[in-house]
Amino acid sequence: MILMNDFKAEPEELKAAEIRAGERVIRSGWYILGNELKAFEGRWAERCGSPHCLGVGNGMDAIEIGFRAVGIGPGDEVITTSMTAFASVLAVIRAGATPILADIDPETGLLDPNSVKRCITPKTKGVLLVHLYGQVRAMDTWVSLCKEAGISLFEDCAQAHLAAWKGKPAGSHGEWGAYSFYPTKNLGAPGDGGALVTHRADVADKASRLRNYGQSKRYYHSDLGLNSRLDEIQAAILSARLDWLDVFTKRRQAVAERYRNGIRNPKVLLLAAPLETENHVYHLFPILCKDRDGLMAHLKTHGVESLIHYPVPVHEQEPCLRIGRDPKGLAAAEKHAATCLSIPCYPQITDSQIEAVIGAVNAF
Ligand SMILES: *Cc1c(COP(=O)(O)O)cnc(C)c1O
Repeated sequence: MILMNDFKAEPEELKAAEIRAGERVIRSGWYILGNELKAFEGRWAERCGSPHCLGVGNGMDAIEIGFRAVGIGPGDEVITTSMTAFASVLAVIRAGATPILADIDPETGLLDPNSVKRCITPKTKGVLLVHLYGQVRAMDTWVSLCKEAGISLFEDCAQAHLAAWKGKPAGSHGEWGAYSFYPTKNLGAPGDGGALVTHRADVADKASRLRNYGQSKRYYHSDLGLNSRLDEIQAAILSARLDWLDVFTKRRQAVAERYRNGIRNPKVLLLAAPLETENHVYHLFPILCKDRDGLMAHLKTHGVESLIHYPVPVHEQEPCLRIGRDPKGLAAAEKHAATCLSIPCYPQITDSQIEAVIGAVNAF
């Protein structure tokens, strides 16, 4: 079976570095909020083109903490996409704010600016962009749209590690960027992890308190925070894995290029290609097919695993049926959810496996 991910196939050299990192932490006797976290935060901030980085427990907490750190909460509306991981929207709700769901551009699966404009009300405080599948696009449009509307821009970068627009990395275009280091993400930990990157010292300061029970100095609490810290073992191992991120990203882009050149089936559509290589880090490679379920079954019989990202848009999830949305509806998100299918796209896939996937898709 050609899998969607295969961590066991990662280089032995990387595994050895991860084990050394874990051993270093265990022998240090310091496990939470220590030097490993500081070192990783420094490196990740630099790679993200942001002066500040705060390691947190996971990507969803990074988004919640980000909103709370800028003072967005009860009574405030945040516009975001219905075609995303449920965690994007759940984090807005956890921050106490009201998510409003806009529709997507069917060519990319990303938020449609015209739909977002229709969602703006006097209560709108910001737009949470999701760099879905690893794509960063049209950031000039989003920056000027938010500026004109007098609202803030936030970035969910959980799928877009070091994707960039005009040389500026994901997470550095708005007030903050939220990253996830869930194992399958482009930079993944062997466990849960996340980070908030920001250019704002005040936001970094507030976030550093919020992740630690709202503590300002030991046993003094200025806020009602969370317990959401990136622990030393995860930070140390993430540092080891960060050394490989550029190599792995290049490989994902090369895999995607082969799919783009090789997939030739009138029943199968591809999403729009990125304008520049740096605009897409291919966390996922979705294809579109009217008979998506048939294609998925066909691939399985040809030994190819596939997954749907995502089968149910957020506005059709049980707790979100009455959530506010574009008055014109979310037809593009609904169609995308009914037709999208992600095929294996990860750094360890071999050239012959790529050819086998292309062959199976074209034979459908
Ligand atoms: C994975 C993901 C999240 C949540 O990250 P966790 O670390 O699992 O909490 C949020 N948004 C998007 C787009 C994701 O892909």
